[in-house]
Formats: sequence, structure tokens, C-alpha cells
Amino acid sequence: MNAEIIAVGSELLTPARVDTNSLYLTEELNALGVEVVAKAVVGDDRKRLAEAVRTAVSRSEIVITTGGLGSTEDDVTREAVADALGRKLVYHQEICDAIEARFRRLGRRMAQINKRQAWIIEGAEGLDNSEGTAPGQWIPLDERKVLLLLPGPPRELKPMFTRDCVPRLRKIVPPQVIRVRRFRVAGMPESDLDQLISPVYKRYSNPVTTVLAAPGDIQIHLRARSATNEEAERLLKEVGAQIEALLGDHIYSRDGQPLEAVVGRRLAVRGAWLAVAESCTGGLLAQRITAIPGASNYFKGGFLVYTDEMKRDLLGVSAALIEKETAVSKAVAEAMARGVRERTRADFAVAVTGEAGPESGSGRPVGTVWVAVLSPEGMRTEHRQWLGDRERIRILAAQQALDLLRRTLEHR
Ligand code: AMP
Ligand code: MG
Repeated sequence: MNAEIIAVGSELLTPARVDTNSLYLTEELNALGVEVVAKAVVGDDRKRLAEAVRTAVSRSEIVITTGGLGSTEDDVTREAVADALGRKLVYHQEICDAIEARFRRLGRRMAQINKRQAWIIEGAEGLDNSEGTAPGQWIPLDERKVLLLLPGPPRELKPMFTRDCVPRLRKIVPPQVIRVRRFRVAGMPESDLDQLISPVYKRYSNPVTTVLAAPGDIQIHLRARSATNEEAERLLKEVGAQIEALLGDHIYSRDGQPLEAVVGRRLAVRGAWLAVAESCTGGLLAQRITAIPGASNYFKGGFLVYTDEMKRDLLGVSAALIEKETAVSKAVAEAMARGVRERTRADFAVAVTGEAGPESGSGRPVGTVWVAVLSPEGMRTEHRQWLGDRERIRILAAQQALDLLRRTLEHR
């Protein structure tokens, strides 16, 4: 079953306020096995809103509007929906009495304008608002089709939805589950990854596959819909296995965990210690490693050696080597890794040196990054030439360093 959400409010069309109701509703609907196929934000405009509602109910079984049910003149959801459905608005004295009683309890008098909230679409059921005055409306359109009007304030909408709407929706939604599988991939450009796996996922409309890219970190989400858990899992397995076969060890996590957590778990299992030496990442690497709870069980610490002098004085990287190879080089990355391992007696040492830009200090092109991992099994180094601004290159360098460490830990 498909759903559509229309967030109503002119403020939601400005940078001042973000529509969060639809995120909440999408999560709740997915839990019921309902897929959200379209979302819209529409200003407080009776004609445009009526059009949006008409379109939505013509193609989706569940349509939910949020907002525009207030008492002020700019709130036009009731009128727009009446227009869209060609139904009348009916005045409910008992709703007006309830609103009046609520004001009385709060020691206030109800303003006449609040009476607007007692108008309900013909054939609709009013939904109590425990947190405010605007009632919601449950409007059956036919056996399996419903239009729901909910208030805008999240603290009013949420209890109304879970208390009054979820049980009603369960009665009309056929048994369906949505299961998700997440792969995370490092060290691969998005276009390369998509070229590799799209021939597989394009053949399937269920599960639906989406690719979400961040610098150096791609997430692949598979969403399967089915009547049973077993069938949904079977679909995920069928497509997931093909994707796994193509990506191999580029996949670093299958449970949503970030790279620093994956690396941490491997170090902890092995009972090994890690230390880092950072130049261009300026602490980013250590920051990510220590963001994981329990990092003190495997992370000794690190050196932030930004200048040549610090590389020499703290890590013993020879001035002659830096002079000969420049600070951004394989030899210096290796010397940094050796230096940090010797001084900390860690099992694993990671070093990163690079040119983050916008100007080159070492003479190497901006975006040049060298990482080195020194482990009990030996030294591994990796060179990349990244494109992008300073922030992006630093993020990519930290990710590259963590990923080389991960691959070193996986293949011993
Ligand atoms: P309304 O019911 O249109 O009078 O909305 C009342 C208030 O609810 C607005 O001023 C917003 O603060 C909030 N609101 C309305 N729609 C949303 C939404 N889609 N997401 C988050 N907050 C909202
Ligand atoms: Mg509004």
C-alpha cells in the first residue's frame, strides 16, 4: 500500500522552518509496511492545496496532510480539502464545546475564531487533540482509501497519530513488512560503484536499491517489501549476495556501523593497540577513532606533527629525508609510521601526510595524500590524488587512512 504526505504551511517554503512531520510519519508508515511514494510542501493557499490533495487521492491509498488546521484565517486545509473532495463542511457543536472546555480548564476564554476548528468534512471522524485545540480528521474515501488531516505542531501530531491513526490504519493495511539491508563501502568513487552494481539492482523493483554517497563513504540501501519477514529477507539475500560478490572487501560494514567502529572492533578482538601520526588531517583521524565508546581499550593516542620540525623532533623523521622527498611522500609517511610505533610501542601505527590546499606547501599537487600502516606483518602504503577543496581532501585522507588500516586488519 502506498502513502503520500502533504505538509501544509507557507513557513515551510522558507528557510525558516523545515518540514519534520513527514519524516516522523514516514518512519511510522514504513513500520506498518506502507511505502511513502511522494511528499509535497504546499503553502497556505486554498486553490493550490485543493489541487495537491486532488492529485494525491487520485493515485495513493493513504494521503496525510499536516498543518493548516489552526484557528487563524491563514489556515485553509479544511476548506481546501472540502473543495478537493466536493464535500461540505459540517459544524460540530460538541467539538466547539470541547475546545471551550479546554480553554476554561486553562483559565482562559475561548476566542470566537476558535470556532473555525469545529468544522469537519462531511463523512469524516474528528480525532481528539490531547495537546492542543485543532482536532484531526479521519476521512474514509472508500473501503481501502483514506485521507487524514493532522495538526502541524509535532507535539500534537505525534500522539494523535500513534493513538488514533495507527490502530485504524492497521485495519485497512494488508499485512506487509519492509526490511532494509545496508552496505557501507569505502575507497571507491560513486560512479565506479554504480557502474559495477547497477546491472544487478536495475533488474529488481523489489527490493528498491538506493545509493547514498558522502566523501569516501557510500551507503547502499536495499528495501524489500513483502507479506512476510521470510519473503522480504529472501529478496534481500538474493540481491544482496550479488552486490556483495561484486564489491568484495570494498564493503566494510553490513550493519550501518562507521569505519572507525569497524576498525575499533577488529583491534579490540585482536587485543591490539593503535597509535596515529597525523599531518594534513590535523587530528581528524584521532577524533573519529576516539568518538567510539571503548576506544581506550585499543587506542594509545597520537602525534599531530604539522610542520617538518615536529615530524623530526617528535617522530625522528630525518630532515634530510624530508628535504629529499618532501613532507608529502611515501618515504616520509613510512618514517612517520615507524616513528610513532617505536615511541608508543603500539601494534599498529597509522600515518597520514598530504596536501590539503588550497596552496601547496610541499610542492606536491593539491590533493596528494600518502597513508602508511605499519603492522606486525609489515608496512603498507597507499597514494591517492584527490580532487576537491580543503575540507573534502582532509575528510578523504582520514577515510583513506582508516580504510587501509581496516584492510590490513582483515587480511593478515
Ligand atoms: P499549523 O497547524 O499550520 O497552524 O502549524 C502550527 C505550527 O506547527 C507551525 O508554526 C510549525 O511550527 C509547526 N509545523 C507545521 N507543519 C510542520 C511540519 N510539517 N513539520 C514541522 N513542524 C510543523
Ligand atoms: Mg500553518
